[in-house]
Amino acid sequence: SIPLSFFGGIGAASACGILVKGSNYLEALSETKYVVFDKTGTLTKGVFDVTGIYPGQGFTEEELLEYAAYAESYSNHPISKSLKNAYGKELDASNVSDVEEISGHGVTAKVNGRQVAAGNAKLMKSLNLAYTENTGVGTVVHVAVDGNYAGYILISDVIKDGAKEAIASLKNSGVKKCIMLTGDSKTVAEHVAGELKLDEVHSELLPADKVSCVEKLLQEKGAKEKLAFVGDGINDAPVLSRADIGIAMGALGSDAAIEAADVVLMDDNPAKIALAMRISRKCLRIVY
Ligand code: ADP
Ligand code: MG
Repeated sequence: SIPLSFFGGIGAASACGILVKGSNYLEALSETKYVVFDKTGTLTKGVFDVTGIYPGQGFTEEELLEYAAYAESYSNHPISKSLKNAYGKELDASNVSDVEEISGHGVTAKVNGRQVAAGNAKLMKSLNLAYTENTGVGTVVHVAVDGNYAGYILISDVIKDGAKEAIASLKNSGVKKCIMLTGDSKTVAEHVAGELKLDEVHSELLPADKVSCVEKLLQEKGAKEKLAFVGDGINDAPVLSRADIGIAMGALGSDAAIEAADVVLMDDNPAKIALAMRISRKCLRIVY
């Protein structure tokens, strides 16, 4: 039978906007020693601003942004939203066909009969397209049109308010390591990790690489120590299920992430992770 206090714990958590899907997760939360975070939308706002447009030979800034926005027209990725937002004009969907979104890479589509690719260096390499190594700070979206390099757009995200304090508070409450996993570039990842004083960071990962990273950590940690993964994207669902405790940022999170998670934070505030752990420990002290 489930001790009555567990209901109290689940209730106390839910009053704070923390949905715990079972008493076993309350217990696991109290034993969490590793917290692994996704970057975009979890530690950063997931709202990118365009900070630079660098057209290649034969393209104007306007054309470069237009191709990127059109190629991204069907994507829901935060990067896609920022490019469409920067373009600002209405997109005529009848100009776009053969859309393909490649997770951790970017998108390809036919725009006005031209074959367009928009994404990171991984995407360009996988399509055998030439691209310029950028020097600016930020996330890069390279664009190619009919096999020709059209240039790149630099975008940048900001760290969530309170994320730094949230990490510090986890470390103060007995968490051994806070780790970030991201598909974004090494430069961006290391900047964020430095700002947040994270213990470990792994960048340029595909969704499957994130699963392997978590599996490796699960093997290395002690048997009684629990590992939590925090994420929000569609791509995060496999890692959320693999971790001892999957925590989804619910407010902007994808349905797949919310479904796969064991704990859902209703308002995407990273401080709620430490709060959930405090509630769980208090509840466990009452039970035993
Ligand atoms: P994260 O791990 O930060 O949540 P994702 O796995 O969603 O990031 O994406 C990893 C990288 O793949 C992004 O930083 C970007 O370079 C590229 N990417 C993914 N989706 C898109 C897209 N729709 N348009 C352009 N680039 C994309
Ligand atoms: Mg993500």
